[in-house]
Amino acid sequence: MEKCAVCGVDAKQKCAGCNLIFYCSREHQVIDWKKAHKKSCKCFEFESNDILGRYMIAKRDIKPGEIILKEKPMIIGPKTISHPICLGCHKSLIPIENDYYKCSKCTWPLCGKSCENSEYHKDECKLYCEKNFKSSIKFCESAKAESSYCVIMPIRALLLKKSKPKVYEEFSKLVSHLEQRISTKLYEALRINLAQFITNFIQFPNVTEKEILNIAGRFDTNCFEVILPSKKIKARGIYLETAMMAHECVPNTKHFVDENFEMRVFATIPIAKGQKILTSYTHPLKTTIERRLGIKQAKCFDCICTRCIDPTEMSTFASSIKCTACNNGVLTSIDPLENLSDWKCTNCSQKMPGMKVFQVLNEIKIKMENLNKKSVQDCEKFLNDHEHILPNGSVFVVDVKYALCLLYGNVDGFLFKDLSQVQIERKMKLCEEMIKLLSIFEPGISNSVLNTQFELEACKIVLKRNDSSKEKLLKVYNQLITSSEGKSLLETRLKRIPI
Ligand SMILES: [Zn+2]
Ligand SMILES: [Zn+2]
Ligand SMILES: [Zn+2]
Ligand SMILES: [Zn+2]
Ligand SMILES: [Zn+2]
Ligand SMILES: [Zn+2]
Repeated sequence: MEKCAVCGVDAKQKCAGCNLIFYCSREHQVIDWKKAHKKSCKCFEFESNDILGRYMIAKRDIKPGEIILKEKPMIIGPKTISHPICLGCHKSLIPIENDYYKCSKCTWPLCGKSCENSEYHKDECKLYCEKNFKSSIKFCESAKAESSYCVIMPIRALLLKKSKPKVYEEFSKLVSHLEQRISTKLYEALRINLAQFITNFIQFPNVTEKEILNIAGRFDTNCFEVILPSKKIKARGIYLETAMMAHECVPNTKHFVDENFEMRVFATIPIAKGQKILTSYTHPLKTTIERRLGIKQAKCFDCICTRCIDPTEMSTFASSIKCTACNNGVLTSIDPLENLSDWKCTNCSQKMPGMKVFQVLNEIKIKMENLNKKSVQDCEKFLNDHEHILPNGSVFVVDVKYALCLLYGNVDGFLFKDLSQVQIERKMKLCEEMIKLLSIFEPGISNSVLNTQFELEACKIVLKRNDSSKEKLLKVYNQLITSSEGKSLLETRLKRIPI
């Protein structure tokens, strides 16, 4: 029998937060919470090694759907190059009478008077006023991306040095990878613009060019995107604990930021005690080369995760092309961690240089970028045109087929009432196929899988195939509502189904 953490008698009730500590009564739990447990009640802890630095592991078994952590941002603000956003509430700006509203004190564009005294903007506003700064951001016909936003987050960090020295110290412990970044074009530009601005124009006391660039590097390495489509917010933030998760291309968590900018990380699959708690800095529907190049560029490390080292990518052949020599096998990389390694056929002796495969994949990628993914006809044509070269599990095929799962039944000309029997059956087949594949790329709780399940059940309802489809559909609908932001979009989709 477990003992009460306060008085030591036999105890049955355990803390629901960490599942690790027991109490004899509610009273003793409350006493301990206030006294000590509030700080230590977590289902994770940190470990470190030479390769990963500090990383997060599970302190106990964690169930899918369980919230692992919630935290407020340490610093939030615009991206290095950002379209005009309000520095008070971070919403995208809409011009009023041909220009943006400008802060009456510092001239940075804001959404309106009410944001002039926002807690995010107050301190920096004072600083810009003192230095007589004038923002040059203007609305001219369209909202163009502005590089002058690169100064905001570093200034916000530097202001913490005085206002919250302990927080700044924590921030300073984050890695910046400056040695690798310093020779890039972006950092050359930052050295000239950002560093000069802070040291010469703002004349920020006791700060060196190196410290400023290190700050920029810490943001680039550790920031999470803060994207809230319904509130038109596109910003980034530092979340200290969330940033401690190691990366794998197939992670075991998902995270989202709520409307108060609070980060929530939840488990998507069961995580056993002692296992790493993982996030992903890339998109599952990218080829291995693209994922690894992106991660290398943005986060300065080489991914060697289970998916990246497996040439078949969990038997999906997600980055492969079909072998045109035998028309039976697919080409996979001999060494996926080596971009220029040769590729060989799974069926015959055919080999192809890595560079050639890269070119083929790149041409398809460009076609994908120009594809109108809102058009059923264009998507079907893309699949037709590439059937001879792309295997079923190819990221490009999955991407387009997933789009089609949602298009059939939901877009003009292809609403459920317009679909022929053949078209509904096409949609069902696509959904079934995509549920299988997407569950490999995103195991456990996944919005793409839920979305596809929703569409599959909708087909069954339309065809009156299965009496339990309505229940299943509503169950998926409710799961989607709690995990995604687009509630109104979902409602529209629900209304289209003749239940
Ligand atoms: Zn007790
Ligand atoms: Zn606890
Ligand atoms: Zn605002
Ligand atoms: Zn201001
Ligand atoms: Zn990887
Ligand atoms: Zn072959």
